Amino acid sequence: MLLGYQNKLKPNKKQTLKVLSWIDMLRANYNYNLADREVTYQERFVQGEYCNLRNKGTACPLTCSVSSNSATSDTGDIYKVKKKTREIKLKTAEEIQITNLPILKKTRPWYKEIDSTVLQQNVKRLQVAYNNFFAGRSKYPKFKNKSNFKSFTFTSGIKVADKAIYLPKLGWVKYFNSRPIPEGFKVKSATVRLKADGLYVTLKIENKAVPPFPTIAVEDAKTVVGLDMGITKLVHCSDGSQYDNPRHSTNKRTRKLLKVRQRRLARKKKGSKNRKKAGKLIGRLHQKITNKREAFQWQLANKLTRKADAVVVEDLNISGMKKRCKPKEDVSNKGRFLTNGQSRKRGLNRSISDASWYSLTQKIEYLAAKQGKVFRRVNPRHTSQKCPECGHVDKANRNKEKFLCGNCGYLAHADLNAARNIKQRGIDEYSFPVACKVKIRMVPEDFREPEQLCLFKMPISETTEVRRRAARKGRRRVPGNPAKQLSLFEDISDI
Ligand SMILES: [Zn+2]
Repeated sequence: MLLGYQNKLKPNKKQTLKVLSWIDMLRANYNYNLADREVTYQERFVQGEYCNLRNKGTACPLTCSVSSNSATSDTGDIYKVKKKTREIKLKTAEEIQITNLPILKKTRPWYKEIDSTVLQQNVKRLQVAYNNFFAGRSKYPKFKNKSNFKSFTFTSGIKVADKAIYLPKLGWVKYFNSRPIPEGFKVKSATVRLKADGLYVTLKIENKAVPPFPTIAVEDAKTVVGLDMGITKLVHCSDGSQYDNPRHSTNKRTRKLLKVRQRRLARKKKGSKNRKKAGKLIGRLHQKITNKREAFQWQLANKLTRKADAVVVEDLNISGMKKRCKPKEDVSNKGRFLTNGQSRKRGLNRSISDASWYSLTQKIEYLAAKQGKVFRRVNPRHTSQKCPECGHVDKANRNKEKFLCGNCGYLAHADLNAARNIKQRGIDEYSFPVACKVKIRMVPEDFREPEQLCLFKMPISETTEVRRRAARKGRRRVPGNPAKQLSLFEDISDI
């Protein structure tokens, strides 16, 4: 079984400075390696039609892709011999860059300060980024700056004691032993990470004797729960229960606090110490928000997974939901643009980021695996527009919180209805045995009011609208005494 434990470190001043300088150096090395790969990849095409001069392979993006062998070898040795078969093979870019490390240490002696496994892991980190790119999981690797490069990893020589952790070349570093390592587990790696309030260490621990968490087969799942994610309420379950959205970063108080702190930062002189301090305060606030959200999500995920043997959630395309509004060009006046609602959309995008549904579903997935339960994602298409009774799909079925089928007149709470549809979709797609059919009990009395209320807005009579407009006008400041509005510099003798 493989586990990850995170603890906060209590380094002394010397160790802190060392870690900070290491991070800087490793970032430079990462960026150098990335640039090296890009340049070598481009140079392949300059070499003429040969991709490889030795075996005269032709140059084309298929034969020499960025992933395999695109790095400058400082030793000139780009071949390796397989021990068993004695076969000669090209080294991969990762292998070439790892063999370059001793040369790097010779030309830049200050890199000797860094533990060698840390440097190797740094090269491997770039390889992971490339692998993710080629597998279609992420975008092309980017150059790192101070804000997105904050960690490094040890893979050997780590010792863990009661009050301190030994990290090679850093020595014994004190730490808060908030969760002792269970017996029989061995430390595989240690990742030191810089956060807003200090350094943290994540220990990867493994015990091969302990089997991984048991899972149940889909056929054994007796109860199924469907979850619909939202913003006004964070989660709606197919059993009728719902959970509030705490809005950790978009509530009024936090928004205001953040605004004040960001304004203070903006007013400080660039490059000054006070600006740094103000930036730190903002970082702390962001971390506090994240911590709160994480804690909340773990607790909620635990509650949700305990509901049933199988959990079905919607597979949302969140980055698509957060896209900017398309610009609207003014047809009559070319070159000018009309308002496209982006400023309104920004607030919604913030709320979507704040809700962070994906990280919640990840936690549910993790806990489901831990508790031996089934977890599935389904396509959310039409789940909020479909009638569960007759299958009628129509956009008009839903009006805000109310769902009223235009075909059969079925009435329900819209989000609970969506959760029920998600559950049904999970049952259909993954053939869960439908042992229990949960009935929705959420149809409050006031939903049964006059029919047209559900579909259309209450018509506002013209007179009330006129009266409202007049009231709004009245509140506006009317120009008062013109003499008062004159500026100090004007001559008032004429009046
Ligand atoms: Zn219907």
